Amino acid sequence: MSPIIGIAPCRSLPDYVESVRRAGGDPRVFDPLQDKPGEVVTEIHGLLLTGGVDIDPVRYGEERHPTVTAIEPERDAFEFALIQAARGARLPIFGICRGLQVMNVAFGGTLVQDIAAEEAGTLPHTVPVPPCAIAHEVWISKGSRLWTLMQEKMVDADTCSVNSRHHQAIKRIAPGFEVTATAPDGVIEAIECPDAPFCLGVQWHPENFWRTGEFRPLFEGFIEACRQ
Ligand code: MN
Repeated sequence: MSPIIGIAPCRSLPDYVESVRRAGGDPRVFDPLQDKPGEVVTEIHGLLLTGGVDIDPVRYGEERHPTVTAIEPERDAFEFALIQAARGARLPIFGICRGLQVMNVAFGGTLVQDIAAEEAGTLPHTVPVPPCAIAHEVWISKGSRLWTLMQEKMVDADTCSVNSRHHQAIKRIAPGFEVTATAPDGVIEAIECPDAPFCLGVQWHPENFWRTGEFRPLFEGFIEACRQ
């Protein structure tokens, strides 16, 4: 039986849905107007948090930077509630781009609101098209879950090439989490909670690569954790 994967809706769903399917999961996209987080987590085996607009900085106690133009407080509220419910049920959680940022803030971390404005000398992290365009490398921490999953795909012992469509990044990491990948400029690109069954986030967009499979081990590792 395929594990049911609850997916937070976003504007570019097809790649997420297809990535879950190809890794052996049964996708179920939530309806924020109908679904109650506390109830729907009892009907899924894992939670996938997707990309999208910036989180309202009020969530981590900051004033909004001028580059933070689009926020969706209702989406924030729905996803924060999903995360709390999923954590309570000890469900695996996989966060992608905004999903990683939502995880980090929901568990008590903060964000850099605009990388280019706040951190001098960083690489370009906003390379919008094509979706699979390689923007930079990431260095993955040896022995992490991410490293274990990605071993067969890494170009050398600890390096992957990734796409990048984010102007924000993690500033302070949530308690209990570890940084497991960074870009060469020091921007945090992945985190995980070593004490959880599977609680991992990446700042890039692995879902865009389902045709060629560069990051299929990530989805397979997530689905495998959801099976248990
Ligand atoms: Mn990046």
